[in-house]
Amino acid sequence: MIYQRSSALFEEAYQYIPGGVNSPVRAFKSVGGVPIFMKSAKGAYLTDADERTYVDYINSWGPAILGHTHPEVLEAVKLQAEKGFSFGAPTELETEIAKFIIENVPNIDQIRMVSSGTEACMSAIRLARGYTGREKIIKFEGCYHGHSDSFLIKAGSGAATFGNPNSPGVTSGTAKDTLLAKYNDIEQVEDLFRHNQGEIAAIIVEPVAGNMGCVLPENSFIQNLRKVCDENGALLIFDEVMTGFRLAFGGAQELYNVKADIVCYGKVIGGGMPVGAFAARNEIMNCLAPKGAVYQAGTLSGNPLAMRAGLTTLQLIKNNPNFYEKLNKTTETLDFEIGKILNEKGIAHKINRKGSMMSVFFHTNRVSNFEEAADSNHALFNNFFHQLLAQGIYLPPSGYETWFISDAINETEIDKTLEAVRNFDYSDKVE
Ligand code: PMP
Repeated sequence: MIYQRSSALFEEAYQYIPGGVNSPVRAFKSVGGVPIFMKSAKGAYLTDADERTYVDYINSWGPAILGHTHPEVLEAVKLQAEKGFSFGAPTELETEIAKFIIENVPNIDQIRMVSSGTEACMSAIRLARGYTGREKIIKFEGCYHGHSDSFLIKAGSGAATFGNPNSPGVTSGTAKDTLLAKYNDIEQVEDLFRHNQGEIAAIIVEPVAGNMGCVLPENSFIQNLRKVCDENGALLIFDEVMTGFRLAFGGAQELYNVKADIVCYGKVIGGGMPVGAFAARNEIMNCLAPKGAVYQAGTLSGNPLAMRAGLTTLQLIKNNPNFYEKLNKTTETLDFEIGKILNEKGIAHKINRKGSMMSVFFHTNRVSNFEEAADSNHALFNNFFHQLLAQGIYLPPSGYETWFISDAINETEIDKTLEAVRNFDYSDKVE
């Protein structure tokens, strides 16, 4: 049994923590088997409780873009910790990180720090509703914006109708204000505006989706969303929790040259500490308490340790002129070489990639929305996942997730990964 200690730890955790984990996707529910308990992480590698090491393609679900425990970030956090963990009062550091981000990201005048991506997106829609005086929002099937009530809505059969809750505990009153459309389908969005005139506060979108696997915007989808919002007096919210500081320093706004009205951040912005943020131009941010009437707050918001980890991470990225070029090149190599091997094996697949986000779908056609992602051969993915895991390659444990490439992944790790893919036993394929 190769995961002996992890199995024992999981059994024990199961008694005290719901499902044995503090966030559901960690439980390996979709791929089956026992989740691997991690002990430490350094650079491109994770070490588990059984002393096995893995090349990490999750990278804490995105934050560890520099790889794990970067020495300069570690040193900065240690120094900060000696000054105090949390003051519940303003610090100069908060202004420093806010200023640094605003100066280097297009189209934002003010930023508010929170402690998670969920909080950022939840606060962004409250702000959009407060600013516009409207109640409804549009979200896309397969996009995830955290676990606040308004976002836990599935499409049901008619994507263009009122949503239904897909988690018990979300009231139908909340669900009815979340309208759903298919990702990449601008006509459905236009229809929703036609049928809900003057009622829609905002569209929230992952400009490159990462929560149905990696799915790219097609046919000027993002540009068209901007246009529809402008025509209807609604705000466009970019959920850049995954894409912010990852696809480019200025995220998808910079990459696609489209301005959002409110931008949500998380993951990379905290350098591995619990941080989220939302930002907008002055006119919108001035509506927020204590200046304005839209309330939002947090005991640990702007926490000094988190701010120091985030600022140091962002500075390291910004000061390296080849940062994104190298990261994207690594990802492109993985895409091409994995694709080549799967082709040689005769395995139908589609690899979606943008910057340093990618997903391998076992699908014969393109994957451009949730339905198509769902139509992939997930049983085959699960098999692929386990065979790679056994060879020391740690992929996200679901065919609906994005792989996050870090700067610590170099030739050695790429070679190790490709070797594992070459060893993938296609005959074990489950149709
Ligand atoms: N938005 C997006 C696009 C995300 O991917 C996530 C988390 N994966 C969230 C929001 C929620 O962030 P958090 O888990 O930090 O609450």
